[in-house]
Parts: sequence; C-alpha cells; structure tokens
Amino acid sequence: MELERLHDIATTVAPELRDTLRLECRGDDWANPTDCIAFATRLTSMVVFIETPSVGLMLHEVGHLLPAIACPETVQKMASIWTGEKATAAMVRSGCSDLAAEWSGHDAAFHRRLLHLVHRTRRHGVDVALADVGAGGLHYAAPPLWVLDELLGDEPLRLSLLSFASIESIRAPHEFTNVFDDCRQFHEKLRSVPREDRR
Ligand SMILES: [Zn+2]
Repeated sequence: MELERLHDIATTVAPELRDTLRLECRGDDWANPTDCIAFATRLTSMVVFIETPSVGLMLHEVGHLLPAIACPETVQKMASIWTGEKATAAMVRSGCSDLAAEWSGHDAAFHRRLLHLVHRTRRHGVDVALADVGAGGLHYAAPPLWVLDELLGDEPLRLSLLSFASIESIRAPHEFTNVFDDCRQFHEKLRSVPREDRR
C-alpha cells in the first residue's frame, strides 16, 4: 500500500500523530544490519519500512510511537536535523537495537495499544487481520493475539474516542495483564534452565 494512504489511516486511528508522523521506505540497496522488516523511532516519530509497506506492519510500528511525544515541535526539530544517512544510522541504533533485545518494547502495554489500533482501523473500514500485525505468540513470549483480544473485551470500543495517553492512564482489564504476566514468567523460568537440562 502507498505510504500516503498508510499515513492517512495511521493519523485517523491515532490523531495525536497527525503533526509528527513520518513514514519512509528503505530500498533493496539499503544494507539491513539486523534483518528487521520495519522499525520505528519515537525520537523522530518515524516509521521506516524495510519490507513492502502494509497496514499490518504500519500498525505494529505505530504501536511503538504511542503514546505520542507531548511536544510535536521537538519531534519536528529533531526530524529536520536528523536527515539522510545520519538519521538512518541513528534510527538503526534506536529502532533495530530495540528489536534485537527480545521482548523489548513488546510488553502488555504495547499489545493493548496494538489491539486498539486494529479495532479503530477496522471501524475506519480497512480490513486488517490479527495475524497481519506480527504480535503476540511465542516470538514475543506472549499469549496469542486473539487470546489477548478476547481478554481486552469491548475496551477498544468503549475507549475509542480517547487519546492513547488517556488510555494508558486507565488500568487495563486485569485478566489481560495477568495472562500476559503469567505467560512471560513461564518463559523467563524456562529460559533460566540450562539448555542441557531441558528434557
Ligand atoms: Zn515491534
């Protein structure tokens, strides 16, 4: 999908990003140091696609930009200073180094934001499947996204008019955070067992 259309969708479902969000593509000639398929950096409110831009990929990365940085002037100033390869290098450090650290940035709060974004996008008339946003499940040591979606219940509808900062100030349903924490603790315990003892 074209970046302009993705930008429209993103700023419709997260209006607080309207003044700051930038979407960019990196072509095939760009050396990808970490095998990431896209990344986001809050410092410049920017999403960079390595693979073909899609609604699912965009929503995942926008989930990393929310709640929006309070001062759009700062974001725009940083974006205007950090241009070209300097920006790329900085974005790689800030964005992909996050991805390299397992679980970093993909906590319960992130998954909650992402589900709100998915539901808002669907209400906007754009079809997006939970499988398209690349979240939940074993890769993130989390419950499957459809389970989290069920546990979040009707919250995305009830809070659909609130900013993401306001949503974060409200406690998520405890079933949602509990199952996430349980799953994570299980994985952490599993990983603490030496590999040779895992049988
Ligand atoms: Zn991510």
